[in-house]
Amino acid sequence: MFFNELGLGEKTLKGVCEAGYETPTPVQEQVIPYVLNRCDVFGCAQTGTGKTASFTLPLLDILESGRARARMPRILILAPTRELAHQVAVNFSTYGKYHKFKLVLIIGGESIYEQERKLTQGADILIATPGRFLDLFDRGKIMLHALEVIVIDEADRMLDMGFIPEIEKIFSLIPAKRQTLMFSATVSPEVRKLSQTFLKDFVEVSVSPSSKAAETVQHYLVRVGSRDKRKALRHIIQAESVKSAIIFCNRKRDISTLCASLTRHGYNAAPLHGDLHQTRRTETLNIFKQGQIDFLVASDVAARGIDVAELDFVFNFDVPVNAEEYVHRIGRTGRAGRSGRAFMFVTKEDSIFLKSIQKLLKLDIPEYPLSIKDKRAVMEDKQEQDQGQGQETVFKKSKAKKSAAEPQKKQKMRSEKPFSNDPVIGFGDVTPAFMKNYFPHLGPMS
Ligand code: AMP
Repeated sequence: MFFNELGLGEKTLKGVCEAGYETPTPVQEQVIPYVLNRCDVFGCAQTGTGKTASFTLPLLDILESGRARARMPRILILAPTRELAHQVAVNFSTYGKYHKFKLVLIIGGESIYEQERKLTQGADILIATPGRFLDLFDRGKIMLHALEVIVIDEADRMLDMGFIPEIEKIFSLIPAKRQTLMFSATVSPEVRKLSQTFLKDFVEVSVSPSSKAAETVQHYLVRVGSRDKRKALRHIIQAESVKSAIIFCNRKRDISTLCASLTRHGYNAAPLHGDLHQTRRTETLNIFKQGQIDFLVASDVAARGIDVAELDFVFNFDVPVNAEEYVHRIGRTGRAGRSGRAFMFVTKEDSIFLKSIQKLLKLDIPEYPLSIKDKRAVMEDKQEQDQGQGQETVFKKSKAKKSAAEPQKKQKMRSEKPFSNDPVIGFGDVTPAFMKNYFPHLGPMS
C-alpha cells in the first residue's frame, strides 16, 4: 500500500514524501483512514511502529477545515512526558511543512508566561503534559469549547505515572462531541477500562500483540555480578564496536555513577533523568541526536518518547522491575524496521524480574556469548572496579578543588598497579590464607 491510497491530502503527502517515507507502516495503514473518517480510535502499537505519524498525518488534514481562535485549541494532544510531547511537536513540523497551523507546546520546566503568550495568539494544536495543561487551564488561559480532537498518547504510561486523575479531569472539561484517539504500547486491563470510559463507538487497531517487543530487535542477557556490570558494559561496547547507545539505569544515583565511570574511561557520555532541569534535558537530547554525545545514560521517564534515528543499541544496565518497561526501553531501537540489539545485565537478584520479562515477551532471551576469556577479563577487573568505586568517592569529594583530569590520572595509576613490572618481594603486602594455616606466627586468618 502507498500513502496516497489512505485518503491523505496533497500537502500532507508532500510532507511525508519529503520525510523520506516510501510506504505507510501497518499502524499507519490501519489508523489513518479511520481518523480521517472522524472515528474514535484505540490504537495498540508499540513504540517504533510509526504510531505518531498515524495520528499526526490525518490531523494535519483535519486542521485544514478552519483556524483556531485565541486560547481555544482545536486539537489537544496529551503526552505523559515532556520529551514525548516534544517529539510529537517535531512530527507535526516535519510533516506539516506545507500546512499553516499554530502549535503550542505546554510542558513543565519551561516558562509558563511564554506559553500563556503563545496561547493568546491561537493554537490549532496544543500538545501538553497533563499537569501543566491543568495549571494553565486553572489560570483561565485555555478554553476548551472549540476542541475537536483529543489524543491520549501512551495511555499505559499515563497510568504508570499516576496521571489518570488529571486525564479524568480533562475529559470532564472538554465537549462531549469530539473525536478521541488513544494510543498505548501495552494493553493492561486498566488501559482497556480507560479506553472504554473515554472513547465512543471506537475502532480498535492492534498492530502487534502488546507484549511483543520490536521483532527487529535481537535481545541478549549478560549474566554478571552487580560489581562487574560496568566492566561488562565496556567490554561489549568494545566487542560490538558500539558507536552510540542509550543505557538505562533504574536509579538516578546510578546514572551519575555510570556516567562518571564511562567518562573516566574515555567514552563520551551524558546523563538524562527527571531531576535535571528541562532546558538541560532538551539540550542533552538534541546533542545526542546530533551525534555529539555517544552514550546517553538515562532513566525510564526521561527517555520516554526519544526518537533517535539509527540507534542500533540499547543497554539495560539494570533489569527493569516492571516487565512492560523493558518493552518501552528496547522500543528505542529497531524502529521502523531497522534492526537493533538490546543487552540486559542480569544479576542473581534480578531473576524474578527477568522471568516476568521473558513471560511477557514469550521469549527465552539468549545469553550473550561472552567467551570464557571474556568472562575472565570481566571478573578479573573486579579488583580494579572495587578501586574504581573508591575512586568515584575521591572524585566527588575533590571535584571542587581539582580538575577532572586528576582522577583520570589516579585511575590510570591504580589500574596499572596489578600489572606493574616492579619485582614482588616475598608475598608483597598480602599473606595468602593457606600460608597462615601453616605458619601461625604470620597472624590470624582473616
Ligand atoms: P514512532 O513509532 O511514531 O515513534 O516512530 C518511529 C520511527 O519511525 C520514527 O523515527 C519515524 O520517523 C519513523 N517512521 C514513521 N513512519 C514511517 C514510515 N512510513 N516509513 C519509515 N519510517 C517511518
